[in-house]
Amino acid sequence: MTETTDDKPISRDFIRTFIAEDIAQGKNGGRVHTRFPPEPSGYLHIGHAKAIAVNFSIAEDFGGKCNLRFDDTNPGKEDPEFAESIMRDIKWLGFDWEERLFHASDYFEQLYQYALQLIESGDAYVDDQTAEEMAKNRGTATSPGTNSPNRERSVEENLDLFKRMRAGEFEDGSRVLRAKIDMGSPNLNLRDPGMYRIRKVEHDRVGMQWPIYPMYDWAHGLSDSIEGVTHSLCSLEFENHRPLYDWCIERLGVFHPRQIEFARLNISFNILSKRYMIQLVEEGHVDGWDDPRMITIAGLRRRGYTPSSIRAFLAGIGVAKFNSTIEMVLLENALRTELNKTAPRVMGVLKPLKVVITNYPEGQTEELEAVNNPEDESAGTRMVPFGREIYIEQEDFMAEPAKKFWRLAPGNEVRLRYAYYITCTDFVTDPESGEVTEVHAIYDPQTKGGDSPDGRKIKATLHWVSAQHALEAEVRVFDHLFKHPNPMEFRKGGSFKNHLNPDSKQVLGGCKLEPSLAGAKAGETFQFERLGYYTVDTVDSQDGAPVFNRAVALRDSWSKVQKQAKS
Ligand code: ATP
Ligand code: MG
Repeated sequence: MTETTDDKPISRDFIRTFIAEDIAQGKNGGRVHTRFPPEPSGYLHIGHAKAIAVNFSIAEDFGGKCNLRFDDTNPGKEDPEFAESIMRDIKWLGFDWEERLFHASDYFEQLYQYALQLIESGDAYVDDQTAEEMAKNRGTATSPGTNSPNRERSVEENLDLFKRMRAGEFEDGSRVLRAKIDMGSPNLNLRDPGMYRIRKVEHDRVGMQWPIYPMYDWAHGLSDSIEGVTHSLCSLEFENHRPLYDWCIERLGVFHPRQIEFARLNISFNILSKRYMIQLVEEGHVDGWDDPRMITIAGLRRRGYTPSSIRAFLAGIGVAKFNSTIEMVLLENALRTELNKTAPRVMGVLKPLKVVITNYPEGQTEELEAVNNPEDESAGTRMVPFGREIYIEQEDFMAEPAKKFWRLAPGNEVRLRYAYYITCTDFVTDPESGEVTEVHAIYDPQTKGGDSPDGRKIKATLHWVSAQHALEAEVRVFDHLFKHPNPMEFRKGGSFKNHLNPDSKQVLGGCKLEPSLAGAKAGETFQFERLGYYTVDTVDSQDGAPVFNRAVALRDSWSKVQKQAKS
């Protein structure tokens, strides 16, 4: 896809254009170095995948490097499990930081020295105001802030207090180090932002060494600078932090990376924000970070997404400067397009109805040849067992057929895929519920393989599974996790959780699958003919007893529903 900035299609996205200009001007000796800076406080989601792809691919395109740097400045919220999952997911997506794994905590001493330097140049001070006072004195978007009574402290006093903060002499939250910029700035980020806070919390990597922790804006830009990052690519919410990013670096006179912001990824019917995803996990609205309904990388992987389908999706949406919401269907289409080419076809019946073929010899079975993938001849064929009793989908039979219902009904003839034509002769109902429990049919032995000997036309082809040979399995069918296209939109208070779709997960037990699937391996994906793509669950499956998750339907039924709703 071509990207657009101001409605003009350009061959390169705007970030690559900026970088190419920097190289042409000889900046950084033509070097390109980026980084991906996750906070290890949750699992990665598809929005992060976009940031990962932007940072790693751009470095690669320009023959540069990309670091992985954990922004571990928030002990308590962070967890080694999260860091592990982040590394696993980046590798799985196909990106490599080589030996360049860093942590903001690697730089705590250097950052502390930089802070002393700013105090000495009169650009930072220790403030003893309470958090409430500071919030109040910060002003608002429309009114300027008020200077702190501590703003004019002497350099000596500030140095003394800050060193004692570092030595652990003061209580949590009792003092902060602030940059001395401008309480009247229209940009709230420049109203003497905090650089250090006191928090005596154990850190996963540095233990209790540091009673003070740097704030994001202070740690982030300087970590970029220390690593020699040339282009700091981040999402748009950091745009009005850029003046602060630049201020810190300029005051210290250190290496100056260029921050460039791009649009955050939003996807309809989803929430792409860690702090909300955490609530879904912790409150049990989903079955963990890798729930197949979550668009975390772990959830997408379990659902059946491949790295190549995710990368194809990201390449398709491109990188733009303005925020927008991408339709969920584009993500699903990327997977569908790939699986159509690669997934072996099989037959499985999710809501089974038994059909007895009364003129088929009792006790006889046979093997019929089925094509593995019509899109890929090299995938070959397999043999599928057939017998007197088979299962078809309940919805493929109607005792009293509606108009234009061409599937099985009394007197109707249909084709069984790769097998025979059958004609319904009769059916049995449950005397209590009136439900059809069994259908009787006769087959035409002349139609073996599903071909008509006399050219007679058959309108419907059904998938089926031999009753005697069927593998019984659990299959889970998923729908959008939220029923609202924008779950963050709610009226009068409320919560995004009110938009959760109560029917997002349907567990079907007793599904009947063709027996070849007993050998399906965790993570493998198949096309169940006429139904969709199904992936063997990596958590709940056992050897010989796969559990399937629907990765994606065969067609985009949701947009059809929406179109109908509109018309
Ligand atoms: P939260 O989702 O709670 O706001 P976060 O996703 O920003 O947190 P980080 O670990 O700080 O968590 O994100 C790492 C990087 O990923 C950041 O540089 C950020 O720019 C980028 N990123 C996060 N979400 C998205 C998104 N939806 N689209 C593009 N980039 C994103
Ligand atoms: Mg963040």
